[in-house]
Amino acid sequence: MTARGPGLARLGWFVHHDELPPENSDSATSRVVVEHRGAYELWGPHGRFEAAVEGSFRDRAADGRDFPTVGDWVRHSLDPRHDRRVVITTVEDRSSAVVRRAAGHAPVPQVVAANVDVVCIVTTAGEDLSLRRIERYLVAAMGSRARPLIAVNKTDLGGPLPELGSVAGDVEVVGTSTVSGEGLDRLRRELAGDATIAFIGSSGVGKSSLVNALVGTEHLDIGAVRADGRGRHTTVRRQLLLVPTGGVVIDTPGLREVRLWDDEGLPGAFPDIGVHAPSCRFGDCSHQTEPDCAVVAAVERGDLPADRLVAYRELRAELADLLAEREQYERLARQRRDRGRPRGRATPRRSDEEISDR
Ligand code: GDP
Ligand code: ZN
Repeated sequence: MTARGPGLARLGWFVHHDELPPENSDSATSRVVVEHRGAYELWGPHGRFEAAVEGSFRDRAADGRDFPTVGDWVRHSLDPRHDRRVVITTVEDRSSAVVRRAAGHAPVPQVVAANVDVVCIVTTAGEDLSLRRIERYLVAAMGSRARPLIAVNKTDLGGPLPELGSVAGDVEVVGTSTVSGEGLDRLRRELAGDATIAFIGSSGVGKSSLVNALVGTEHLDIGAVRADGRGRHTTVRRQLLLVPTGGVVIDTPGLREVRLWDDEGLPGAFPDIGVHAPSCRFGDCSHQTEPDCAVVAAVERGDLPADRLVAYRELRAELADLLAEREQYERLARQRRDRGRPRGRATPRRSDEEISDR
């Protein structure tokens, strides 16, 4: 254990809680500030801790989403084990979660940031601006239950703010620059009341620079997490940081490439499709070739940009494919599990089912 750290209030606890967690002498509540290959660094009123999940965690977890991630509030022991780590026993319910499809081949989910109040989608004006990419980030943000905000960074390079139009919808667009300082006060205002902002966007748009500009020198503070459990220390940059004027910012490698996990955020990212859809003849209209499609009619009237409908269809098709891939993966995983079980007590055989059905 190190020197005592920031209070839970400073770390954002009261944004979603009314009372402090229970006090006792052998456990505490802290916030996860680094996650790296299953090793954690926690920060809270009792100081900084290296941490690991307790052994039974793996048995209880349905999937990767049940494991702690950056931004989580966790309950943990105060006495370190022989490996100097404290043990995380529970993860508090999340007010929001940015979920992506984990890196790698298998279609499995990963929470890359939790308890985020504002997801700030960072992009830049100019040639690399991609409306289709912003739409994808918006789907991820809308699905997280945090409020989205779009920052168009590098305004110092000149040119007008791009016209995002129907892509942004009602989402506020802020011009920012870490060179001129434009827009930084706007971001600081979002942090009022010790709120948490997570920055998402492609590499190179300036997420780390924005975090540096907000946090100042503290960002140079490097976390040291024993990442592989074999005693080697890997240095990992702290992924959750305090902003001196209040609030917390999150910048994790997982927020750089957000591969979508589900379609929960799709309606929120396409409200302009949503206003017409209820007038389609079929309730489950996919706005492709169905008769009396109000969305297609809106495009034909010029009330909805055609590329928005194309983008929507593409995303919907992609997410449907993903769902099918996930189902197949889960079916195979179930079969493997059942085969691994001792005979006689796996899933009921047909005869057992028939008996219990009567
Ligand atoms: P990240 O990959 O999104 O974290 O992007 P970085 O913060 O590493 O920034 C990528 C590059 O853009 C670096 O060379 C930064 O110096 C530069 N950069 C970041 N913000 C700005 C800005 O507001 N204006 C200009 N001109 N360059 C910036
Ligand atoms: Zn339709």
